Amino acid sequence: MVDLNTQYEKIRPEIDTAINSVITSAAFINGPAVKEFQANLENYLGVKHVIPCGNGTDALQVCMMALGLKAGDEVIAPSFTFIATAEVIALLGLVPVLVDVDPDTFNIDPVAIEKAITSRTRAIVPVHLFGQSADMDAIMKLAEKHHLYVIEDACQAIGADYKTGNGKTQKAGTIGHVGCTSFFPSKNLGCYGDGGAIFTNDDQLAAKLRSVVNHGMTVRYFHDDIGVNSRLDSIQAAVLKVKLKYLDQYASARQKAASAYDKAFSGNPHLKIPAHFAKSSHVFHQYTLVLNGVDRNKLIESLNSNAIPAMIYYPVPIHLQKAYLDPRYKPGDFPVTESLSKSVISLPMHTELDDEQIQHITSSLLEFINNQ
Ligand SMILES: *Cc1c(COP(=O)(O)O)cnc(C)c1O
Repeated sequence: MVDLNTQYEKIRPEIDTAINSVITSAAFINGPAVKEFQANLENYLGVKHVIPCGNGTDALQVCMMALGLKAGDEVIAPSFTFIATAEVIALLGLVPVLVDVDPDTFNIDPVAIEKAITSRTRAIVPVHLFGQSADMDAIMKLAEKHHLYVIEDACQAIGADYKTGNGKTQKAGTIGHVGCTSFFPSKNLGCYGDGGAIFTNDDQLAAKLRSVVNHGMTVRYFHDDIGVNSRLDSIQAAVLKVKLKYLDQYASARQKAASAYDKAFSGNPHLKIPAHFAKSSHVFHQYTLVLNGVDRNKLIESLNSNAIPAMIYYPVPIHLQKAYLDPRYKPGDFPVTESLSKSVISLPMHTELDDEQIQHITSSLLEFINNQ
């Protein structure tokens, strides 16, 4: 699905130098590389504060802790997402309130959000799934009207541009009160291990976030908040500092691969190509087709037999996951999510796909469809 080896080979001298300089400095924790990467990412995103942390899941958890959400508070999240979004809500004793997604963009449906708001709702967590932003204008308007926090899960959409209603362009993850990302190796900006970050323009919230990621401590050994230990280590920061310079170039490579896929598949009655949301650019964390009248398991087997990987993101909606079964929900409650979970397929998508590989993937897939 990704080719991190080829990507590394192209930037190997820079990466090796960056990693070696951390090792020789022995500043493994909170070293200069972390501060430098933080400043560069603030600059790239046009956001006042970046708070590095251990991974994207921690980023989400720390946001909810720093915002002071309390057990029993309701937090609205999409039913079609990676489990981490709902997991941290449940872990903190908050109540995940799931809502369905838009069948075209796969992102949380603002109309469904409004219907789910109650007097106990405190926050909305839009997920910018597969690389394009959710409808942040509509979501921010709802949040303002109902006095809610917006925590953007931008783990799959770092670098995506969102055109707000007032004509400004802002990076995904910097529009809500706070945003989160992950530097998991296969993410659009991936390190060589685990990593994550939180974004905010709010000075007071930034101070709280910095405290919570560091044991609730602002002055050493004085703990004003209950916190966690969640750090981006210096070696990962050094890798990310190099890779951030290439992020836009990497996004273009993904977009180019996506266009080639689109060209091969568009108009085919069995394949729905990814929709583009007018307000957001698409950085294609995933290239996801919706199948119509295709045996998905057999298609995956056929692709695999041609040495082509394919994945299902995500095969089981949150409300049907064993650990998240809840008397509030039953099968059929989120028809779009349930239908997508049965019909989506994601193809290889990364920065190193060449024309020959794309040709092999598209022709293998079309051959299966034409002969099924
Ligand atoms: C990857 C991901 C996360 C979690 O990130 P980790 O760094 O793996 O903890 C959370 N939400 C979404 C949507 C993701 O894709």
